[in-house]
Amino acid sequence: MKPLDLLQKVYGFTAFRPGQEAIVNSILSGHNTLAIMPTGGGKSVCYQIPALMMDGLSLVISPLISLMKDQVDHLNEIGISATYINSTLSSTEMNTRLNDAAQGVYRLLYVAPERLESDHFQQLLQRVPLSIVTIDEAHCISQWGHDFRPSYRSLAQWLSHLNPRPIITAFTATATQEVRNDIAQLLSFSPEHTFINGVKRENLSFSVFHGEKVRDFALHYLQEHPADPGIFYCATRKEVDALHHFLASRGFLVGKYHAGLTEQERQQAQEDFSFDRIQGMVATNAFGMGIDKSNVRFVIHCQMPRNLESYYQEAGRAGRDGEASACILLFSPSDVQTQKYLIEQSQMAPTLKQKEHHKLTEMIRYAHTQTCLQETFAHYFGDQPGEPCGNCSNCLDEGERTDVTVEAQKIFSCVKRMRERFGVSLTAKVLKGSASKRVKELRFDTLPTYGLLNNYTEKEIVHRIQVLAAEGYLRITDDEYPVLTLTSKAIDVLTGKQGVLLRMKKVSTPVATPVHEDLLERLRALRKELSTKEQIPPYMIFPDSTLTDLAR
Ligand code: ADP
Ligand code: MG
Ligand code: ZN
Repeated sequence: MKPLDLLQKVYGFTAFRPGQEAIVNSILSGHNTLAIMPTGGGKSVCYQIPALMMDGLSLVISPLISLMKDQVDHLNEIGISATYINSTLSSTEMNTRLNDAAQGVYRLLYVAPERLESDHFQQLLQRVPLSIVTIDEAHCISQWGHDFRPSYRSLAQWLSHLNPRPIITAFTATATQEVRNDIAQLLSFSPEHTFINGVKRENLSFSVFHGEKVRDFALHYLQEHPADPGIFYCATRKEVDALHHFLASRGFLVGKYHAGLTEQERQQAQEDFSFDRIQGMVATNAFGMGIDKSNVRFVIHCQMPRNLESYYQEAGRAGRDGEASACILLFSPSDVQTQKYLIEQSQMAPTLKQKEHHKLTEMIRYAHTQTCLQETFAHYFGDQPGEPCGNCSNCLDEGERTDVTVEAQKIFSCVKRMRERFGVSLTAKVLKGSASKRVKELRFDTLPTYGLLNNYTEKEIVHRIQVLAAEGYLRITDDEYPVLTLTSKAIDVLTGKQGVLLRMKKVSTPVATPVHEDLLERLRALRKELSTKEQIPPYMIFPDSTLTDLAR
């Protein structure tokens, strides 16, 4: 039988999805093959079909016990002989399965990487040749990945000792250049047998909301979508407990899932969700890889995750059946602090911490960009740029772009005046005219930009700075204490070569303060004088509008 016949007869699908057939063919031609495909894109059939077509046993290395069981159950249901071995089995059961495997009973055997070194497993390998070794969720091998597992690290060595050598295939949905390079290098995949299929998931509509109250938002969402199953992700167990309690006490059918619950409680919750006995699951990111529910209609992140890889994977659990589904991120500035703290608290090496800070910066950028969110992902994951999706909160935002050039100039001037050596929050404080100790200590209260945006709240100023950073006017360095610097785009704005059009919510109307005409005159004169002396770079020269503000 040909691959397509198997797809139709065994799986009951009519056609391959984009990318699947090329991957299957590459494996069947005997090439080690790396495939990157979105979550729900259909990676499993890509290695299962070759497993059915080739002699010998096909080994699948998978990181999660729940994931294995689901896959195996599903394969058995459609009549494919497969099993798994992991720590949940008694040793008798494990031996039986290994013996059966040696007898050629199974086409596919799923294992966790920790099992590979065991004596039993080594004996099995002496008895039965492996046709294919598949590494599922292959990003776990890379320490740049968000799910790095040390046990994946020794895989390369283990594989190199196999004799005869099987075909090696690896699959992941995570496709940053770094992770991809890492996988390719560690497992020796060549570029011509690496398949990257668009990360875009057309049926998902992504949204970012600022300033929403989590509880009210969740409550209204459930009220407005009473028939939609979905997941609320929270950053901590405490938040899960609180939101779960709140929603349950309002009469909603919700379950909860986090690592602080017993195995039994977690299993129960997962099952309730799978079988639609509850509508919503409130969970930490512990709830995830194992869920095999295709009709998740929404994934709402009540707090911002720490990087886009995690976010995309978690949000991507919505709509695996291809139906329209919503992925919503509720952003609150305090999440940034939480995530920074978590990174700093972790045991990572300093270089890794810096990476994490960089990824966090990219996550914050996602939360503030005004560019199509699907395009933002595509860019981040190294995919080809395409058309705006027309379906994300940025594409759908009907708010008019307003000219915020003056506001931007004030912010950039302030960054410059602070010698591009301080972060978002201190810059916002100076612009606000805050009397904070640190502002005073550094004598920033004497800067001409001090208090220049005092008709805004500090929060509003932070938001504006983040939006300007997301739109490429400001750069934020990748440190524990990130520093704001100006890009050439900002300098063009300061020198009046370019304006800034953005969708910014209007700030509560400022009380008009009179302009001191005499002061304005003096400032103009000063500006003229400074600009003729060449030592002042042009971008330090305030435009007229800024002078007017200074003179208030
Ligand atoms: P992932 O890439 O996340 O591992 P899966 O392999 O679990 O995705 O597949 C996701 C869903 O898509 C499953 O329900 C699977 O049955 C379905 N699927 C995969 N390939 C096809 C296809 N060619 N036609 C229709 N449905 C498919
Ligand atoms: Mg999969
Ligand atoms: Zn869009």
